[in-house]
Amino acid sequence: MAREKRKYTPKREDGTQPIGLPGIRRLQFFTNLRDRALTKNLNRLAMLGIGASLALDVAKPVATGVPQTIFCYECRACYATQDKCPAAIAYQAELIVAARVGDHWRFIKNGGMKCLRCGGCVSFCVVNLDLPRIFSRGQQRVMEAMEQGRIPRRRIRRALEEGLFGREFIDRVVAWLDKQNGGRA
Ligand code: SF4
Ligand code: SF4
Repeated sequence: MAREKRKYTPKREDGTQPIGLPGIRRLQFFTNLRDRALTKNLNRLAMLGIGASLALDVAKPVATGVPQTIFCYECRACYATQDKCPAAIAYQAELIVAARVGDHWRFIKNGGMKCLRCGGCVSFCVVNLDLPRIFSRGQQRVMEAMEQGRIPRRRIRRALEEGLFGREFIDRVVAWLDKQNGGRA
């Protein structure tokens, strides 16, 4: 005779239930393991996912040489630099985030390759980040990514046409484009 499967029915006086109010134990799906045999590891998986994302958020900037970007609040106080930036960069925080996540096109688009690393924006940063150093590393990484073919050529060409490369990078960019086009830049 097949064994009848006993169904667990939570009871109000069940001592394993969490206390909602003094003397009252709640019957709550997500807090009773026996109610969710298939999902009892869900919390652990979720925590593992959150932990891994946080670790990546920290590990990536450290590995790519921009550890200070972790401390950027994205408060955008540095936007107050305005006309004190000789390269007319309006959104310094965008450059920080782009450097942190390794988004090269975002870095170029926001004028990162025009930055002169003069430090004019540093005094506006609420956590006193070494912005010129971060921007310098961002520029190096863009050039490396370009030369390794990790940025689409049409984007590089467009950025060059729009004047998004500073003078110090133009020769190198033109030479690279020239090489890609077999001698025609
Ligand atoms: S360091 Fe770069 S972004 Fe900051 S003020 Fe100088 S040129 Fe502008
Ligand atoms: S002021 Fe500093 S902390 Fe705030 S967004 Fe700009 S770089 Fe980040």
